[in-house]
Amino acid sequence: LEKLDAADAAGDGTTERAARHLVQPWPTAGQIGAEARTYIAYGDGIYITGAGGERLIDGPAGMWCVNVGHRRAELADAMRDQAMELSYNTPWYTMNEPSVALSERLAAHAPGDLNHVFYTTGGSSAVETALRFMQFYNNVRGRQEKKTILSRQGAYHGSTYLSGSLNGRPRDRDWMDGADGMVVKLSSPNPFRRPAGMSVEAFSDFLVEEFRETVARIGAERIGAFVAEPIQASGGVIVPPDDYLPRIAQICRDNDILYISDEVVTAFGRVGEVFASLDVFGVEPDMITFAKGVTSGYFPLGGVMMSDRLFETLRRSNHPDAMFAHGLTYSSHPVGCAVALKNLDLLEGGILDHARSVGPYFQQRLRTLEELPLVGEVRGLGLMACIECVADRDSMNPLKLDNEVGRRIDRHCQELGLLVRPLINMCVMSPPLVISREQVDDMVAILREGISRTMDDLRREGLWRG
Ligand code: PLP
Repeated sequence: LEKLDAADAAGDGTTERAARHLVQPWPTAGQIGAEARTYIAYGDGIYITGAGGERLIDGPAGMWCVNVGHRRAELADAMRDQAMELSYNTPWYTMNEPSVALSERLAAHAPGDLNHVFYTTGGSSAVETALRFMQFYNNVRGRQEKKTILSRQGAYHGSTYLSGSLNGRPRDRDWMDGADGMVVKLSSPNPFRRPAGMSVEAFSDFLVEEFRETVARIGAERIGAFVAEPIQASGGVIVPPDDYLPRIAQICRDNDILYISDEVVTAFGRVGEVFASLDVFGVEPDMITFAKGVTSGYFPLGGVMMSDRLFETLRRSNHPDAMFAHGLTYSSHPVGCAVALKNLDLLEGGILDHARSVGPYFQQRLRTLEELPLVGEVRGLGLMACIECVADRDSMNPLKLDNEVGRRIDRHCQELGLLVRPLINMCVMSPPLVISREQVDDMVAILREGISRTMDDLRREGLWRG
């Protein structure tokens, strides 16, 4: 609140105007339509700056998306140039060059025969598209019953009705309706929360067995798709056991269940590759959904990579006139695709290499925070990581006041110059991929101080005895 006041004092009443008229994502009933958040005026590289001039490291890179960093003139120019050449064309009856060129380049990066792209406006619409395509595909094949979707606890797949129905994070669904009859949720592959006394290998066996049993119970003829983030991102950067995803993918293949890999976060360099499914996790999915880093957040764009195999099946079907009645006004948007092409140039022109080299340093430096008694685990891969706080390290219980701990750390870190993404008892970090080693050191030093101050507060308030 002090920050907001400062922003108002320095600015033109933006904060107050926002509180009066702007509805922010994920509001609570008590604050809906009357909430202002930290006002950000500028971005440059890994930094964002508030109206009062306070500079923060953008710890979450926006929402895991500003991969090449803020204020890249190349992307701004690409956007302007394309808007002046062709700002929009209807994808219903016409085509444009940037979307064709981008599709070619994405297909060259995608695993196996994922050679086709359907463009959307973001991640939710990408997941929604993949799911509707699965339904269409099975309708055309005469498998009208084969529609159940397998998702997992801890998942986040979006905010449209069907994509949101897949979400499995605590609290996401408490007050929201969903297509519950269409979705079955499996366990989160979270090794940190595996049953006590169980090895990681045995935990992987347990997860695979649960999957097998679920398929047997429901019947493969009733299951259309399995949807999974390779790393559950908003669920707390859950990196699964090594062999888990390939084993699940094999069961999907054996049972004609489409494997949809949700790479909205993990693609475009976040873990060092353009797509991570095959290169990092050893999985060749039937579809990959992407968004965010495809334009580094400069333009709302997402999409679904689709495999030749699926299209071959449709072309050979007995219903050549069946229509996939699904499309968005902004599908294949020329400006979005032009930005994505330039963004890909930047990634391939050195940023991917940089991300691969700085990623292990980022992970190693962050793990030093496990020395602090409030920290139960630091985990992650590439340039995505999570610090999970616990009440005591013997039981690894989440803190009783878990709702507050991430926010408390964030508050201290913001004072010290770092924006954190607080998640219940966790802090998620996913900075722009251009972060240098020195900037990683700055970030970790601020986190160490912010967590230490939080520990002092908790002790002083008698809430924690670590
Ligand atoms: N899928 C994953 C894995 C995500 O993390 C998100 C957003 O955070 C989405 C889908 C939804 O994307 P969007 O917010 O662009 O609709």
